[in-house]
Amino acid sequence: MKHITIDMPIVAECLANKCAYNVNMKCHARAITVGNSMHAGCDTFFSGSGHTQAAGRTAGVGACKSTNCKFNEDLECMTDSIRVAPKGQEVNCMTFQPR
Ligand code: SF4
Ligand code: SF4
Repeated sequence: MKHITIDMPIVAECLANKCAYNVNMKCHARAITVGNSMHAGCDTFFSGSGHTQAAGRTAGVGACKSTNCKFNEDLECMTDSIRVAPKGQEVNCMTFQPR
């Protein structure tokens, strides 16, 4: 496997414990994708009982499509870290702030 080094905002906390990438309220995907133009939802959410074994990994925000967030520049998240949590039927980026 080839490796790249890239600066990304970290996913500091995620309260969606029904997601397969969630262990102990932390996201352990390599990187997540957030949002569309309407909602800052976590597109990487995957409902499953088999949680990831990669519990030492800290996730980053690989891409964000929520262009109406003030932290979004050129379809990328530019803040230092985000928090994610369930909200109604969705799992949203709680760091979202409208422009
Ligand atoms: S940030 Fe998204 S992919 Fe990561 S644990 Fe939370 S819902 Fe799952
Ligand atoms: S803070 Fe804004 S730009 Fe960053 S992931 Fe959340 S919605 Fe996207």
